[in-house]
Amino acid sequence: MIIPVRCYSCGKVVGNLYEQYQMLLDQDYTEAEALEALHLERYCCRRMILSHIDLIDDLVPYSVPVTGTMQMMGSLQTSTPLRR
Ligand SMILES: [Zn+2]
Repeated sequence: MIIPVRCYSCGKVVGNLYEQYQMLLDQDYTEAEALEALHLERYCCRRMILSHIDLIDDLVPYSVPVTGTMQMMGSLQTSTPLRR
């Protein structure tokens, strides 16, 4: 989906580095060289960038408008149960 802002393990901010990482890969850096250039030394932070798959552009066409869901929710409501 979207790159996490911080490393899950150590808390270092890594979300701002993903675009720079992609630009370095486009300039024919290897993955290891790009991570070294971004000063990502720890394995935990490196895996955040290496294992990320950017899916947000693939999922946006399947999103549902928020206003449409509220109308659907109204028709799904059932009547109140009978009281004795
Ligand atoms: Zn880390």
